[in-house]
Formats: sequence, structure tokens, C-alpha cells
Amino acid sequence: MNDRIYLDYNATTPLSDEVLEFYKEKLSSYANASSLHEDGRSARKDIEKARAQVAALVNVNPDEILFTSGGSESNNTVLNSMIAESEKRGRNLVITTQIEHPCILEASKRLVSFGLEVIYLPVDEYGCVKTEEYMKALEKKPLLVSIMTANNEIGTIQDIKKLAALAHDAGALFHTDAVQAAGKIKVDLADWNVDYASFSCHKIYGPKGVGALYIKHGSPIEPLIRGGHQEKGLRAGTYNAPAIAAFGKAAELALEELESYGERTRELRNRLRNGLLASIPDIKINGHPAKVLPNTLDVSFPGAEGESILLHLDLLGVDVSTGSACASGSLEPSHVLLAIGLGPELAHGSIRFSLGKYTTEDEVDYLLKYFPGVIERLRKMSSAYCAGK
Ligand SMILES: *Cc1c(COP(=O)(O)O)cnc(C)c1O
Repeated sequence: MNDRIYLDYNATTPLSDEVLEFYKEKLSSYANASSLHEDGRSARKDIEKARAQVAALVNVNPDEILFTSGGSESNNTVLNSMIAESEKRGRNLVITTQIEHPCILEASKRLVSFGLEVIYLPVDEYGCVKTEEYMKALEKKPLLVSIMTANNEIGTIQDIKKLAALAHDAGALFHTDAVQAAGKIKVDLADWNVDYASFSCHKIYGPKGVGALYIKHGSPIEPLIRGGHQEKGLRAGTYNAPAIAAFGKAAELALEELESYGERTRELRNRLRNGLLASIPDIKINGHPAKVLPNTLDVSFPGAEGESILLHLDLLGVDVSTGSACASGSLEPSHVLLAIGLGPELAHGSIRFSLGKYTTEDEVDYLLKYFPGVIERLRKMSSAYCAGK
């Protein structure tokens, strides 16, 4: 496992050494963080420290952070809250985009059965929301707008501050899925002035199964999971105190390392991109050329099939992804690549390389040495492919 080359950091990250050590230490304490005895109070203290650390990463107040089981739950909590809110506000429209994570797409689809309407905004060839289409949709007086900060497949970053201001001008609430942005670019929620934002611990070198939802003071929210009084009654269930504490540690490190992370991954990603462009003819880089996550590189290889490329890379000891982790496993081409205008064939022949803080120059160079041959062989086997056409 250790001598494999992991280039799938957008799917999940390993625990960083510091987080692993801290998490192990915390795992042995089993106290219920709601208990009033000393061990309970100690676990509770860890949770409140973590809340402050997560809040600091995204520049908000600790009491605006709600702990959840992950990005999917945070997203579902916001969308589910709109069922009750639509009655109160007399608005029933939710605006989102065609390139959201499946948990946003599926949760918003479900809202339709509760009488809500959903508009899935198209994006341009780079994955940016089209302003004109957005303005037109806002005229319909939406209840909520939900637009991801950065896309998990192609890495495109939206102008959340501007999109949120426009939504507020139209009297709407604004949510952003910032799972892929946190720890990779500066996320300043106070400046962006959003009402809600979702985060996940396992995308920032912490354990899986824990996440956060930012809820601006006064923004309406309904619990998705009801029961005990944890999280002010907004999220029932005994606290996973060790994982939450580790989330805090991961957030603290992410904030400390934000700049060096960006510089390092950008340099390595550019090295990989330039190397691929120089050694493999006829490839297409997907996503915005500048407004893109520093670690993400999505590439289409006409004449080669994504799953075949992935398996060949697997044999070379390199972990990558075709489309999103959720889209792979099915034979459906990525909805994100279709939305930016790729045909089904090109969308099927695409690979996402996502780098991270343990990626090295040697790993990138190893890939650049052996990967061009893989594409050449696959293209030779493909009767349909004719270079230059
Ligand atoms: C990973 C991811 C999620 C889901 O987060 P989980 O913690 O795995 O539920 C949501 N949105 C985006 C953009 C993601 O990349």
C-alpha cells in the first residue's frame, strides 16, 4: 500500500501523521460527551475545542458550526430544511447546478415530492455558472440557492461571494458545498456572506464519518436526525468525540498549511499537466484554466476508455479516478463532464488526477515515464480512434 502512488485525494485523503497520532490518543476515551461526570466533561471540552478550530478554518463563529456525519449529511440537512421553510416564506423554488455532488442532486430531487421546484443551472465549458441563466432563474424568487464552491471532478471554483450577493438581492437563502474547497483554497465565509456551508473531515486528512455544517446566526434550520439534545437539538445522536476532536486537529493543520499546500500541489499538478501535454498528443484538459483547485487535473484521452486507463494505472501502482467516485462503478458517463459539453465518448475517456500533501515530484515523474505508453497502446487497440481526427 505504501509504495503505491495515490493520486485520488479528491475521493478521500489519508490521515495525516499528526492527526493519526492525536486520533489514536483520543480513541481510548469512551465517555459520552453529554455526560456530566469528569470524563464526559473532558470529551465535551475536546468537541468545543474542535468547533473553534473548524470555525477558524472558514472564518466564522464557533457557535455557527454544527457537527454532522459528513458532507452528505450537511448537504441533506440544508435541503431538507427547505420543506418547512417553503411554507413559511411562501416560496418553493430551489436553484442549484448540474455539476453538484450526487448528494445535492439526489436530495434536491426528493424535494419535488414535497411540492418544491428545482432548477438545475447549466454551466459553461469550464464549469462556471452562467451569469445570464442565473439572473433569469433568480427572477423567479427562489427560496434557496445551492452552488458548490469547487467541483470535485474538474476543480472549477465559483465566485461564491458574487453568487451569494445576487441570491440575497433576490431574497433567497444561499448554501455552498465547500467540501472540496476547505484546506485547498482560502474559505472566508464571513466575507462571502453565505447562509450555510458544508464541510467534510475526510477530505482534509482526518477520519471519515464526521463533517460540519455552517449555519449563519438566524438562518432557518431543521434537524434531519431527531432524538437527544446534542447540538442544540439540531443533530441527535451520541457524539463521536474522538473523530470530532481529530476533525479539529485536521482543520487546525489545514489552516496552518494552507499556503504551502497550495504552492506545492499547484507546482506538482502543473508539472503533471505540462508533462502530459508534451508527451501525449490529442488530449483535452477539463475545468477552468485559472479558477481551479491547485491539486486537481481532469484530462480526456480521446480513443482510450477511462476504465481501461484506470486498470492499467492500477497495474502500474497508481490510484486515480474516472469521473467521481460515485459515478464510477456505474457505466454512466460523469454528469459533470456532460454538463461542460463533452460528448459521452470523451466523457468516458477521462481521468481525474487529484494530488495531495504527500505527493512527490518522483511520483509525478514516474507517472510521466510510464503513462504515455499506456495511452498509446490503448489507442492502438481502439479501432474507432484515428489520431488527428
Ligand atoms: C466528498 C464530497 C461530499 C460528501 O462528503 P462525505 O463526508 O463523504 O459525505 C460532498 N460534496 C463534495 C463536493 C464532495 O467532494
